[in-house]
Amino acid sequence: MAGKLIIGNWKMNTRAQSAQSLVDALLEQPACDQPWVGVAAPAVYLAALGARLQGRSIRLAAQDVSAFASDGAYTGEISAAMLQDIGCAYVLVGHSERRQYFAENNPQLLAKMNNALAAGIVPVLCVGETLEQREQGDYLEVIYQQLAVLAEINAGEYLIAYEPVWAIGTGKVATLEQIAEIHSAIKTWCLQNAKPSASIRVLYGGSVKAENAESILMTDNVDGALVGGASLDAGSFRMICQAAGKLI
Ligand code: PEP
Repeated sequence: MAGKLIIGNWKMNTRAQSAQSLVDALLEQPACDQPWVGVAAPAVYLAALGARLQGRSIRLAAQDVSAFASDGAYTGEISAAMLQDIGCAYVLVGHSERRQYFAENNPQLLAKMNNALAAGIVPVLCVGETLEQREQGDYLEVIYQQLAVLAEINAGEYLIAYEPVWAIGTGKVATLEQIAEIHSAIKTWCLQNAKPSASIRVLYGGSVKAENAESILMTDNVDGALVGGASLDAGSFRMICQAAGKLI
């Protein structure tokens, strides 16, 4: 799909009613009800939201998927087949909060990516360095190590989200130069190391707001945005989607 892709990551927020109201508010906005807009809602609300989104353009996204491929005795897990069953188009894989709090590592993330791909869901591999890693100067190496998962994937469409950890939920946005440098480095790495995928698309995430969305989305090699905090406010998210809509 050409144009910019916007995915809202609601994280562990909302309740059944507020999730429904948020999606209803987005559906009322032509700028949001577009096939290049996705919402990653908490897993417990995905089925209800999937039903609400049927026949509409906004895509449903999950925030995580099990590394286990088949049904079985994996208490608490949600498989890619289950996500596919309720209409998920995308799933986030390896968000920095999952790497930080659940110690997710490359072998697990590869399994998650492969499970999503096998179920026909587009995985969004999230990569990004911490502030300490940036200050030490080895941030590109950190990102290449996280991208290494992609060298093991044989086929299928996936997305990459560059999310500097120091910019997530902090209000600190990477400069446009920093974003351009990393997005270009990610694409070059993929061309050299990843097996051919349909396209290499890289979203930026980290304190994207209505005020900065357009300049970020216009930056070289930025193919969209992964939006956390601002995706919980229908008005802010609409403005970000509008900024993306202008760039089609
Ligand atoms: C995120 O968690 O993916 C994110 C980008 O969060 P925020 O926009 O709040 O920085």
